[in-house]
Amino acid sequence: MSALSPAELKPLFPILQQDVNGHPLVYLDSAATSQKPRQVIEAVQRYYERDNANVHRGVHTLGTRATDAYEGAREKVARFINARSASEIVFTRGATTSINTVAASYARAVCKPGDEIVISPIEHHANLIPWQQAAKATGATLKHLPMNDDGSFDLAGAAATITPNTKMVAVTHLSNVLGAVTPVEEIIALAHKHGAKVLLDGAQSAPHLKIDVQKLDCDFFAFSGHKMCGPTGIGALYGKRELLEAMEPVEFGGEMIDYVDLFDATWKEIPWRFEAGTPIIAGAVGLGAAIDFLTEVGMENIEAHDRQLAAYAWERLSAMDGVSVYGPASGRTSLVTFNLEDVHPHDVATVLDAEGVAVRAGHHCCQPLMRWLKVSATARASFYLYNDESDVDRLIASLQRAKEYFGHAIG
Ligand code: PMP
Repeated sequence: MSALSPAELKPLFPILQQDVNGHPLVYLDSAATSQKPRQVIEAVQRYYERDNANVHRGVHTLGTRATDAYEGAREKVARFINARSASEIVFTRGATTSINTVAASYARAVCKPGDEIVISPIEHHANLIPWQQAAKATGATLKHLPMNDDGSFDLAGAAATITPNTKMVAVTHLSNVLGAVTPVEEIIALAHKHGAKVLLDGAQSAPHLKIDVQKLDCDFFAFSGHKMCGPTGIGALYGKRELLEAMEPVEFGGEMIDYVDLFDATWKEIPWRFEAGTPIIAGAVGLGAAIDFLTEVGMENIEAHDRQLAAYAWERLSAMDGVSVYGPASGRTSLVTFNLEDVHPHDVATVLDAEGVAVRAGHHCCQPLMRWLKVSATARASFYLYNDESDVDRLIASLQRAKEYFGHAIG
């Protein structure tokens, strides 16, 4: 058992204290977005009530406070993922913008015809389409790492796919559909052997695993605040200092410049050169508060709890007749993806919702992975620190009733 207590944590989340369709809400959709504890909501409110001003410009007191709050949040993000310095943290709108920044700037600058960009077939569209576009723009070849039948990575195949021509490898650190943790250490070592750079899509891993970018030795790490108890609209891109320093910005305007004349301009140092315009100040403050909260609970505790809950859900769902579960049986955390035989997952999710159980159904922004699994869609139950085994039990009980209902309707 982990040291984390959902019974003590759940009351800190106001939204979870409600009934939905006449039943106490069981929120099992944290992989789409997590709920926010009171500390985060209050930090954002306090910022707007006391400190709000634009950053990096005003010499007045509120301007200084807002700047300190914004840059203080950057320091918290750097510590949270163990970056060498806060200058390696670029605030973005989230994982999608972070990945697009690297694909549009780094990849387009270094790739040429004959080079390779390597991704995997299980990627979220956010870590797929930017690389398709970069490959098209540069003439580089887009390649996909091979997968084992259970959806785990085939490392021998990876060794053959990543070659001296590979310039960029971009993979998910934790699949939002399969719930499997990618063997990123091995993939990073393979890529670095050939001089390729590695971007990890950490949208799902940052909330559930303790991240140490120095230990991982990844070159870029992308994640979103809203999946880790922070507000929507804020996220971060970590990049190794020497890479960020060599990269051109992809957005231009106020805040990111050093000197401007009528025909040309020069850029600020990193990270500000990548943050054109008024940044998402209150979002950063909220993300800082979320990081304080997660750190207080302890990422090791969260990791142990989420792994254990996913294993419990996997076991219960696998034991049900007529239910298919997807992804490898081990090395998983935070979520389980499944289907009820002969029933569309939207119908399953609708019946569960009628009993107050919120799960997601659809392609989860992973259409190629759905085709690989030979399904059009799946249902997904995803967990976080406020969930416990009783929530999984509610899911199973509702699913059992859904099965009887549809069995009856179909039969
Ligand atoms: N990658 C993965 C694995 C995700 O699960 C998500 C969010 N569903 C994203 C990227 C994109 O994150 P965002 O929409 O917050 O930019």
